[in-house]
Amino acid sequence: MAARPTVELRFYEELNDFLPEERRKRAFAVEVDRARSVKDAIESAGVPHTEVDLVIVDGRSVDFAHLLRGGERVAVYPMFEALDIAPLVRLRPRPMRDPRFVADTHLGKLARHLRMAGFDTLYGTDWDDDRIVAISLGERRTILTRDRGMLRRREVERGYCVRAVESEAQLGEVVAALQLEGLIAPFTRCRECNTPLEDVPREAVLDRLPPRVRELYDRFKRCPTCRRVYWEGSHFRRMEGVLERVRG
Ligand SMILES: [Zn+2]
Repeated sequence: MAARPTVELRFYEELNDFLPEERRKRAFAVEVDRARSVKDAIESAGVPHTEVDLVIVDGRSVDFAHLLRGGERVAVYPMFEALDIAPLVRLRPRPMRDPRFVADTHLGKLARHLRMAGFDTLYGTDWDDDRIVAISLGERRTILTRDRGMLRRREVERGYCVRAVESEAQLGEVVAALQLEGLIAPFTRCRECNTPLEDVPREAVLDRLPPRVRELYDRFKRCPTCRRVYWEGSHFRRMEGVLERVRG
């Protein structure tokens, strides 16, 4: 009896969670009798197609309807959380599910802008590449860097190479490229230390406010870690302006 044609499938990142141990993080063969769609082959391996964002067949991105005839190598990626795949076919435009970042040492201003927009972003002035990569892997955080070299490291799973030079433009770029618009939550996270903010009554912080702020603002938040007090002032409005332009 002639052997049926097979294709080689390989799943990446958290798509491996759907696979039995022996199929995780390695290529394995599945049969394709006559022609079989990519979608069908993926689902036959137990991975819901809804989790898939990018399929590469023999080096080319394809859509779910692409027919497999045998002999192809198929790489399957989860919803875009990592690589710069802009030139490739995204199977579905979707935001990241749980965007968390670690920014490299040159992106301190961007890190603060992202926190102001509500995104969990770690950043340290003295972190070297090894440390940034380790944090990314350990906490499933997306590396933000302008250094392509760091993202080419084999162990890196999530990363985005920032093109813009100016920090507000960088914020706009990251929000647009990673489709974060719907997840923006301004005024929720400490710009300086990344801790989620808590509501604080005006009376509790009155003596720490400049007179003009006392007059103009009613709503305040405080960082439980570094005790900074926040209000929807000029920083906030400026960032809103940036985000408005991104949304527009
Ligand atoms: Zn803080």
